Amino acid sequence: MVDYISRLDRALEAPEGGARSLALLGSTGSIGRSALEVLRLHPEKFRVRALAGARNITLLAAQAAEFRPEYLGVMAEEDIPRLRGLLPAGFSPVILSGREGYERIASLAEVEMALTAQTGAAGLRATYAAAAAGKIIALANKESLVLAGGVLRAACARSGAVILPVDSEHNAVFQCLAGGIAARRGGNAQAGVSRLILTASGGPFWGKTRKFLRTASPEQALDHPTWSMGAKVTIDSATLMNKGLELIEASHLYGLPMSALEVVVHRESVVHSLVEFCDGAQLAQFGRPDMRVPIAYCLGFPHRLSSGLPGPDLPALGALTFARPDAENFPCLALARRAQERGRGCPVVLNAANEEAVAAFLARRLAFTSIPLVVERCLDEHSRRIAGEAGRKDGPDFGGPDAGRIGAVRQDAPDQYADAAGERAAVDEIFALDARARAQAQEIIESLPFNSKPA
Ligand code: MG
Repeated sequence: MVDYISRLDRALEAPEGGARSLALLGSTGSIGRSALEVLRLHPEKFRVRALAGARNITLLAAQAAEFRPEYLGVMAEEDIPRLRGLLPAGFSPVILSGREGYERIASLAEVEMALTAQTGAAGLRATYAAAAAGKIIALANKESLVLAGGVLRAACARSGAVILPVDSEHNAVFQCLAGGIAARRGGNAQAGVSRLILTASGGPFWGKTRKFLRTASPEQALDHPTWSMGAKVTIDSATLMNKGLELIEASHLYGLPMSALEVVVHRESVVHSLVEFCDGAQLAQFGRPDMRVPIAYCLGFPHRLSSGLPGPDLPALGALTFARPDAENFPCLALARRAQERGRGCPVVLNAANEEAVAAFLARRLAFTSIPLVVERCLDEHSRRIAGEAGRKDGPDFGGPDAGRIGAVRQDAPDQYADAAGERAAVDEIFALDARARAQAQEIIESLPFNSKPA
């Protein structure tokens, strides 16, 4: 947090009257659509310069017709003619495609803030491009920090980029830390913090028996009780891997060791996270479980914008509940903790194995209870390999295990990422490890008898 807060000056100087220019990566997904809903409420405050959506070309064309950006991005080059055909007559923005197209959009000179809301590890490339180009990043792709927290910190330090967390829990922490007020006064926003408490809804399977979980279907797992989100994050919410990834994300954002990060299950999803201070005081952020609230906070930062939503109706809620996570039925939380503590690529492997396992579960090729099994086996295999690799003991760890100390300014740029070339090499190395872990996860998935003997 300290390193980001100390560089928030640019974000703090957001023009009161002028319009902030934006690029939205992942504009057709759940976060992207919510962001556009907020932007519709404030047409005078923002100028949408670029929209990128991977697959939903029809929706992307409709968004483009409404917001008229100068640039559009799609993942597949072959979608360009169709997208052009769907645009209104006389409107011909530059259309970029593929990984390079996304990277270019994230780093456009005319863009001040990039919202990175793609799903999964693939989002890292564009997030890194935005960080290297010194943008204000409204980060909704948690995988970027899980995979490459150290690289991104180094890039931000070098370029002056800042990261504002869109993820509701991290946004709540950011708000509780007064969102830069301390920085404006030259203070340390993290001073006196003893721990962060991330809340978890528990997902659709909280309280279910092992027997139920063994045969749980994708439809059941996608039926989230409080949040409406994309499929991948909803399954991650059901396994609690989402909270595991968020622990790693928080560790990088706020420079805290895993031992200072806790999770409590809070079924109502009204308290989005808490900060505990050394005097025992806890500050919490309350809000409806709707991503428009944290999105509006990031888009308007440091000013508050209407999100279009009222606050929670507390008397109607009546009671709020808090419980410890069930480590036995939801082992992903502990796997994520262990991966970040081990470092040396373990978070990359954790994420890759999980993405493959979730896709296999959604395709009915893997039992729900086998998702953590696939992740654990991939992590064990990786641990064996790095233990046996001579000379790698001090090799790149992409930012984990986290050595940040509470109240201390953390080391921003590890030596191995001394320049942009070093950072890019580290990102390439991350994706090589990611590909290897995915291949191995597939082998493990194939070897597991579906629905017969899950973990
Ligand atoms: Mg979250």
